[in-house]
Amino acid sequence: MTMDFGTIRELLVGRDPDAVREMYGLADQTRRDHVGDDVHLRGLAEVSNHCRRRCAYCGVHAGRTLPRYRMTRDEVLEAAREAKELGYGTLVMQAGEDPGLTRVMIADTIRAVKEKTGLAVTLSLGERDPDEFAAWREAGADRYLLRFETSDPDLFRRIHPPLASRGLDGRMAFLRQLRELGYEVGSGVMVGIPGQTWDMLARDILLFRDLDLDMIGIGPYLPHPDTDLVRFPERFPPAPVGEQARADGETTTRVVALARLMQPDANIPATTALALVNRDGGREHALSRGANIIMPNLTPARHRRLYEIYPAKADFTETARAAQATLAKQLAGLGRSIGTGRGDSPNRRKR
Ligand code: SAM
Repeated sequence: MTMDFGTIRELLVGRDPDAVREMYGLADQTRRDHVGDDVHLRGLAEVSNHCRRRCAYCGVHAGRTLPRYRMTRDEVLEAAREAKELGYGTLVMQAGEDPGLTRVMIADTIRAVKEKTGLAVTLSLGERDPDEFAAWREAGADRYLLRFETSDPDLFRRIHPPLASRGLDGRMAFLRQLRELGYEVGSGVMVGIPGQTWDMLARDILLFRDLDLDMIGIGPYLPHPDTDLVRFPERFPPAPVGEQARADGETTTRVVALARLMQPDANIPATTALALVNRDGGREHALSRGANIIMPNLTPARHRRLYEIYPAKADFTETARAAQATLAKQLAGLGRSIGTGRGDSPNRRKR
């Protein structure tokens, strides 16, 4: 299948059930051929909900009055130990863009996690200084996730006010720096941001390939009541009728399938946001239409409820340990196994 703009757009919006079924089948086959049947588990530690930015979609933006927390090095280490015990290969440290997570503190934590557990370390700490990216890589970090969120420069600027004045070009420059430093690089988008058209979404998918991404994160946009997008809808008008991309499970799963077809060797998670919009089946659909990663949450419960980037996220209170048996059964039902080892991206190895 030639994956040009027209084909991608048609597969995103099209209503022909046979064409959609064929795309899902092809995405699943491509996943099997390129990354196999293993589903790799990444332990997620949401290490801080402090943030200096005012992203119009995000529930932990700087303008909110919200109890703020920052995990200590020992708390992160505890999450890493739990990840190790549960057989995961990776610890993901994610946070708001928090200058209080200093270069030294993060570097020390990475070294400690590596020394005590040997896990692969993924960072998702936002746009930070190049010397911080370099120091963390030096300390042993393996991967970095930084979604571009949308490939449309105007929409990017609208949803990322002042501090993001570097705009989409700036975000692309950060992604290039990460690549040059030798990180496995992950990026991705939210699906159905008000003002995001089907054309924009099709271009997002083309960009996955242009950036040669090693990891691709895709989730629906979920409105949070205490954000600019919801409080000032007049500033964020939806695209004209018929052109606005939908923020639903079906569209998100189509983007997952198309991402797999564009970047066959990338690691692609079945995201929590997708599991949330489609509570019965969102995760399974993603896994059987291109995805090969799950990120169980290891953030201590008292912090987790404060990392509410979108509503109802905190409903997912089940501990990773309690969920492990159900997960194994769910995966077995799909004919899939839990991956062992680090689960590095074959895309990076290939490069
Ligand atoms: N601060 C870092 C950053 O911006 O890359 C990492 C944390 S940020 C909260 C992680 C991701 O959450 C973002 O890339 C964004 O796509 C997603 N996110 C935030 N608010 C969301 C919302 N309301 N709906 C869906 N996804 C959201």
